[in-house]
Amino acid sequence: MIATLLVGMLCVYLLSFTVMFLLISRRLQDEKMGMDVFGVGNLMLGGAYVLQLMEGAPGWSWLSMVNHTLTLCSLLAYCVGGARFFGRSTPLAKPLMYLAVGYSLLQILVNWTLGPVARYVLLAGTCAVSFVGMVAVLLYGVRSFARDLRGEVLLFAGLISGICVLNVIKLGKLLSGGFEALSMDGQFSMIFYVYMCSLATILPPSIVWLVLRRLTDRLRNMAAVDPLTQLLNRRGLGTALDACFRRPGTTARLLLIDVDHFKRINDNYGHQTGDAVLCGVAEALRASVRKDDLLCRLGGEEFAAICVGANEVSALRVAERVRSSIEQAVMLQGPRYEGLRCTVTIGVSDSFSSEAGLAHAMQQADAALYRGKHTGRNRVEQNRGQSRINAALDTVH
Ligand code: GH3
Ligand code: MG
Ligand code: MG
Repeated sequence: MIATLLVGMLCVYLLSFTVMFLLISRRLQDEKMGMDVFGVGNLMLGGAYVLQLMEGAPGWSWLSMVNHTLTLCSLLAYCVGGARFFGRSTPLAKPLMYLAVGYSLLQILVNWTLGPVARYVLLAGTCAVSFVGMVAVLLYGVRSFARDLRGEVLLFAGLISGICVLNVIKLGKLLSGGFEALSMDGQFSMIFYVYMCSLATILPPSIVWLVLRRLTDRLRNMAAVDPLTQLLNRRGLGTALDACFRRPGTTARLLLIDVDHFKRINDNYGHQTGDAVLCGVAEALRASVRKDDLLCRLGGEEFAAICVGANEVSALRVAERVRSSIEQAVMLQGPRYEGLRCTVTIGVSDSFSSEAGLAHAMQQADAALYRGKHTGRNRVEQNRGQSRINAALDTVH
């Protein structure tokens, strides 16, 4: 009686989360993160349990056959949903159709050759093997594609291992005791359905949590990154600098980089070409700085590079490398772009050691940049006057 009640509760859980998954997937218009497929999986498993309530005692019936097929298909749907959550464009309809037809035929064959108990053994065995596969993929995922969701994925692996063990026990009981093992009044059924109810209570909200985490991470990223060049924007730079200066003793120097006569590029070749040039500049910047340095598009055709831990000489060396690589590398292909030349002027600040120090460094670098613009462009200028920069650049060359 209690086990039957638990199955009823399972149906309610699964079907109500079906509605929630489908509602969420409707809101996620472009990238559904597998939510629609999780909805389908829940619908099939919920449907399977409704059929179980309707079919009564175990044995051969069409209801029972559909029930078993739906159960197995729901596992496939959960796997496809998981794959889509991790960005794989795995197909659903065809594999589901093949599995449904293939497994239904297999059930008929097993039932008429080996008897009705064998059909239940087949389901318990197939489910157990599928769960082992799922756990293996999840454990592999912890080290590769799901490294950022370690805790959650390990929880899933643990929960699925539990249901795998229960299916193995069920299989053993079926082999030794036949349908007696499936009696709804038995202790095993009680444990099985209590565990299933716990799974149905924990897993769907966890999946919703994963989607929420992905969305908030994405929003945070969007708020910190410039969409054209994928470099940090001002806000992202502030946050990254803050994190950087939390390490005691960290100092940095700012390179303020401004594209020369950018307006001409826009006017002569069009705004789209201007955008492509900005992306080229960003690419050249990425190639010229160290891994720990921070790169930002401040706006328009102005960029900033924060050279972490750099002294005067090394900051000037990086600035010179940036200047010359942009001069040489930022070119566009095609006869239309003949004569297109992209150079930058760079102002270099003194060292600073806090996020608050950025504003002052910005003023220093801006003043140096201004001087660079007025002394011919396509050059590096340091905060403290021409004589020192010449001396320092002599050391670089
Ligand atoms: P200077 O050598 O003195 O820096 O001259 P400049 O032409 O580079 O400077 P100015 O500030 O006069 O022009 C900057 C231009 O950048 C004007 C603006 O239309 C263009 N711009 C700003 N944002 C974007 C953008 O996102 N894409 C493109 N294509 N152009 C932009
Ligand atoms: Mg400019
Ligand atoms: Mg400018």
